[in-house]
Amino acid sequence: MESTTTQSIYGQLGISRQVWELGQKTEEKLKDRFCEFDRTAEYNQMKVIHAMQENRVSEACFNYVSGYGYNDMGRDTLEEVYASVFHTEAALVRPQITCGTHALALALAANLRPGDELLSPVGKPYDTLEEVIGIRPSKGSLAEYGITYRQVDLLEDGYFDYPAIEAALNERTKLVTIQRSKGYQTRPSYSVEKIGELIAFIKERRPDVICMVDNCYGEFVETIEPSDVGADMVVGSLIKNPGGGLAPIGGYIAGRADLIENCAYRLTSPGLGKEVGASLGVMQSFYQGFFLAPTVVCGALKGAVFAANIYEQLGFSVVPNGSESRHDIIQAVTLGTPEGVIAFCQGIQAAAPVDSYVTPEPWAMPGYDSDVIMAAGAFVQGSSIELSADGPIKPPYAVYFQGGLTWYHAKLGILKSLQNMIDAGVIAMSEVEKLL
Ligand SMILES: *Cc1c(COP(=O)(O)O)cnc(C)c1O
Repeated sequence: MESTTTQSIYGQLGISRQVWELGQKTEEKLKDRFCEFDRTAEYNQMKVIHAMQENRVSEACFNYVSGYGYNDMGRDTLEEVYASVFHTEAALVRPQITCGTHALALALAANLRPGDELLSPVGKPYDTLEEVIGIRPSKGSLAEYGITYRQVDLLEDGYFDYPAIEAALNERTKLVTIQRSKGYQTRPSYSVEKIGELIAFIKERRPDVICMVDNCYGEFVETIEPSDVGADMVVGSLIKNPGGGLAPIGGYIAGRADLIENCAYRLTSPGLGKEVGASLGVMQSFYQGFFLAPTVVCGALKGAVFAANIYEQLGFSVVPNGSESRHDIIQAVTLGTPEGVIAFCQGIQAAAPVDSYVTPEPWAMPGYDSDVIMAAGAFVQGSSIELSADGPIKPPYAVYFQGGLTWYHAKLGILKSLQNMIDAGVIAMSEVEKLL
C-alpha cells in the first residue's frame, strides 16, 4: 500500500509508472552511496553546531541593524562562526558581497597590487572571472590596474602540469587561484586532498605566494575544506552551498587575518574595513542557512548521483560518472541533441515549487556565445543550491544541473526531466522498460 500511495502522488505530478519504477530500482542500488553522503553530512552538521556553540551564537545575533552597522554583533559573530568551521584566522561574510564573482573579485583586487602577477595553475578560470582578470578586456579589470595574469593549462587527464607550474612561478607571482569545481568545463572537480598537494608544491617553492581557492559548489561535500590543507583564502557564494537555500544574497571569504583585513578595506573603505556594513535583517537566514547547509548539500549530492545513474543506464555520457567520488554538487549529462537539452530543462522547471507552469526557452544570454536554456523555479533568484539546470544550445548538447533543497525534490526533478524527454519523443519508453 505504502509504495502505491507514493507512486500515486508521483502519478499526480505526471510521472509514469515505468519512470517511477526505474527511479525506485536506481535508488535501491545507491543505498551505500547515500549512506556515505549521510555520514559526511552528520560530521559537517556537528562541525557547524560546534562552531555556533563555541562562538556563543545568541538570539541577539538576529537583530536588525541599519546605518553604519557599528558593533553589529550578529555580523561579527557569524564571521567568527565561519572562521571556526573553515579553521581560519578570520572571515568576511556579508550581504554587501553580492555574489560569488564579487567575492572572488574582491579577494583578488584586495590582495594584488600593480606589478603583481596572478597565476591559475588549473587552466582557464570560471567564465565570469575572465572579465575580472581582464582575459577578456573589461572596464575595471585587474589588467587595467597593471596586474598581469598567467595560466598553466591542465594535462590531458585534467590534472596539474607540475613542471609547467614550477616554470610559471616567478618573482612577480603574488597570488595563485585554484578553482575546486569544474564549473562548465569537462575537467574533473578536484578533491580537497588533490588541492592540498598542489598547494604544498607551490608553497615548497614559494612559501610567500598567497594560495586562494574558489570554493563555489564545494562546501560541505567533504569533511575537510581547502583551508584545512593550506589554502590562505577560500571564497564562495551564499546562494550556493553555505547559504543552505535560506540566505537571500551574499558571499564569504575565509582565511588568514591579514588577507581578510585587506578584503574588508577593499569592500568598504580604507580605514573603515570590517567595522561598517549593517546586516539589515538577513542574519537569521545566514545563520539558519549555514546550519542547514550540510544536509542540503547532502540532498543535492544524492540527486546528482541519482541522475548520473539514471542517465548512464540509458546510455548517455555523464560527468562525473555514476560511481565516481564527488567533489562538488554539479552533474553534467550529455544529451547529444538540442531537443534533449530543451526537454530536460523544461522537465526540471516543471518539477519546481515556484514557477512550475512557466516553460523555459533558449535565449541569447549576454556573455555566452550560443543560446542558453535555464531552468530554475527558485525561492531566491538565480540560486543554484536550489534545483536548477542550464544547457548551452551547442555541441555536445550537455546540461549542467545542480542543487535541490531536499533530496526528494531533486529526485522528482530528475524523474520529471526523464518523463519530459519521453513525452517529447526524445527517449523511447521502451528504453526505460528494458531496464525494469
Ligand atoms: C558560481 C561560480 C562562480 C561565480 O559565482 P556567482 O555567484 O554566479 O557570481 C565562480 N566560480 C565557480 C566555480 C562557480 O561555480
